[in-house]
Amino acid sequence: MTTATVVGSGPNGLAAAVTLARAGVDVTVLEAADTVGGGTRTSELTVPGVLHDHCSAFHPMGLAAPFFHDVDLIDHGVTWRWAPLDLAHPLDDGTAGVLERSIEATCARMGADGAAWRRVFGPLAEHVDAILGEVMQPMLHVPRHPVALARFGARAALPATALARLFSTPQARALFTGAAAHLIHPLTRPTTAAVGLTLIAAGHRVGWPVAEGGSTAISAALVRILEAHGGRVETGVTVRSLAQLPPTDLTLLDLAPDVAARVAGEALPPRVRRAWERFRRAPAAWKLDLAVEGGMPWTNPDARRAGTVHVGGTMAEVVAAEQDAYDGRMPERPFVLVGQQYLADPTRSNGNVHPVWAYAHVPYGYTADATDAVLAQLERFAPGTRERIVGTAVTTPADWERYNANFVGGDVITGANSMLQLLARPRPALDPYVTGIDGVWLCSAATPPGGGVHGMCGYNAATRALASLRG
Ligand SMILES: Cc1cc2nc3c(=O)[nH]c(=O)nc-3n(C[C@H](O)[C@H](O)[C@H](O)COP(=O)(O)OP(=O)(O)OC[C@H]3O[C@@H](n4cnc5c(N)ncnc54)[C@H](O)[C@@H]3O)c2cc1C
Repeated sequence: MTTATVVGSGPNGLAAAVTLARAGVDVTVLEAADTVGGGTRTSELTVPGVLHDHCSAFHPMGLAAPFFHDVDLIDHGVTWRWAPLDLAHPLDDGTAGVLERSIEATCARMGADGAAWRRVFGPLAEHVDAILGEVMQPMLHVPRHPVALARFGARAALPATALARLFSTPQARALFTGAAAHLIHPLTRPTTAAVGLTLIAAGHRVGWPVAEGGSTAISAALVRILEAHGGRVETGVTVRSLAQLPPTDLTLLDLAPDVAARVAGEALPPRVRRAWERFRRAPAAWKLDLAVEGGMPWTNPDARRAGTVHVGGTMAEVVAAEQDAYDGRMPERPFVLVGQQYLADPTRSNGNVHPVWAYAHVPYGYTADATDAVLAQLERFAPGTRERIVGTAVTTPADWERYNANFVGGDVITGANSMLQLLARPRPALDPYVTGIDGVWLCSAATPPGGGVHGMCGYNAATRALASLRG
């Protein structure tokens, strides 16, 4: 029987393990932490009975991703839940840009920009499954949907700021720019429209759902599928060297290239090591989990009903904040992503005390305290927030690195989304999952299609690893 070891139980490690196990391989996953899941863990971070997602929260890409469709997470215990509105982006005048799953409802709110929004997102939302099928694999492939891909590619190649200028109202511009800022990269650069387009198109197709009980439900489902196919996960095992591993036919590393290079040691070919050393890291996340009595007192009523709230003001402000974080300057008014998962999933709250998940984009390796800057941004759009807080948990860039070795310097997306790394990550290569060591493959978010909970890096790497066995 073919055997495999997977190092790391993030969504990509588990996706790789499930793919291998479903093909009849005997798989063991080794995880350094005491719990499985990497970026999909949930626990009571602030006060008892209030559940916070440590990392991933909203899963438009997960729900639309081919791998998650294929394994049928719903059949294995994941219940997706949606807030009344998917996304709101409040502005100082009390208005907000609002994303609803229905493109018609979204356009109807947009006034002068309704027609432009429909022109940009209508065709993308209609063909989003085909587009995701294309962009969730390495760039070098023969497309099965060339027309849909070309239409997406023409707009995705633009800077996010250029795409945003297709709209004329501050609300629509901010709404798009905030979605694009998930990239954590200067938004004036080419290809930075790609993530905003994808997240919004997927939002119009499947919404921005959360998993009932927390994102941990996703890893629990993947573990159940793995175990049903004879595989297993061992937690509390930090792999420091390939020599430490039992001999198996395949080894898949759910690791960032810098971490994988240490584990691989001398076995790694020098050309791969040099390429991995050039792999650029992204700015950091600085996270504030809050237990808030009565929920957030947003001035804008739609923000009170939205699962995600983007806090950063106008397009120009978001662009400036992202540039500062990239340049190593702490933004005076950082871009803050706020999650109100409890609006979709009331099981996360304890009575009237609700979990609020918020993280700001700050410079890589940032060591100072960003609490006041984040709270000031929340107070700006939800005055009175501070008085409602009954519990707080802070995760700094250094804490992220302790939490998960992949999150070096607080880079929680496993590598910068520069144009080069969007097109060819972790290095330009015919097969980006190849490490150059026989039987050893890289399967983390450092490989295509990159960050997020979709399992496609793991699925793609495992599929290639299986093909290599067939010669
Ligand atoms: C604050 C935050 C918010 C986010 N929000 C979202 C969101 O809303 N939606 C979304 O889709 N994505 C989101 N993400 C991103 C998402 O969580 C990651 O992109 C995803 O988890 C990457 O998966 P992975 O399997 O590649 O690696 P990881 O999740 O990083 O998992 C790697 C695993 O390997 C383990 N490991 C590392 N080194 C070793 C070793 N030497 N030996 C053994 N085990 C090891 C780690 O402990 C970890 O469990 C967010 C991330 C953060 C931090």
